[in-house]
Amino acid sequence: MVVVELKPFNEILKLISPYKKVTVLGCEIGSGRCMQGGLREAKEIAQFLENNGKEITEVLTIGGTCLIEKVRKLEFKETDVIISLACGAGTQVVAEETEIPVVTGVSTLFIGADCHREVFYEYCIACGDCIISETAGICPIARCPKSLKNSPCGGAINGMCEVNNDTECVWFTIERKLKKLKQPFRIGEPTFIDFSRSNHPRRFKNEL
Ligand code: SF4
Ligand code: SF4
Repeated sequence: MVVVELKPFNEILKLISPYKKVTVLGCEIGSGRCMQGGLREAKEIAQFLENNGKEITEVLTIGGTCLIEKVRKLEFKETDVIISLACGAGTQVVAEETEIPVVTGVSTLFIGADCHREVFYEYCIACGDCIISETAGICPIARCPKSLKNSPCGGAINGMCEVNNDTECVWFTIERKLKKLKQPFRIGEPTFIDFSRSNHPRRFKNEL
């Protein structure tokens, strides 16, 4: 999932200062799951904006703002601006598919996973050439602050990362998991990643 964080309401209010009539559009997939941009948060923002003199045209959420065909079918009521609570991808789809100004009410943080919607962890930077079959299904690119893909930096203290000292060094996590799986730990052996596959902007075409 894409993890997002709601911007402070005052910041959103500033972003829409030239406009009077406001639509708030949430996304139930990533943002909703994060409890940062689903219906509840959309309503909270709308209430705040109304209390600050804005006229709320509509508050709505859809299940997947990054689905272009779905956004194309949306018919917005007359409004001066849309506040999108979708991730960066979803918000860009809305901006491209409508003639109405769009501002974002969230910041997109990372691709990750969550536990009980309380804590969200970064698991992937979408490098484009996944190597986690060699690292017990654990990504050293996303989960090591230095993105070391061959071996640890040697700075870990009692197994904890020298950069984030409240987090285990991911290479210790990988080693432990490989041992459990009775798979070899090929520390120091070069792992190649074709980073040319992460040249922006990327495009993937499905052969249907
Ligand atoms: S190796 Fe690349 S694609 Fe695979 S999980 Fe890590 S960042 Fe994501
Ligand atoms: S201690 Fe481990 S996780 Fe932290 S930067 Fe070094 S190799 Fe990466």
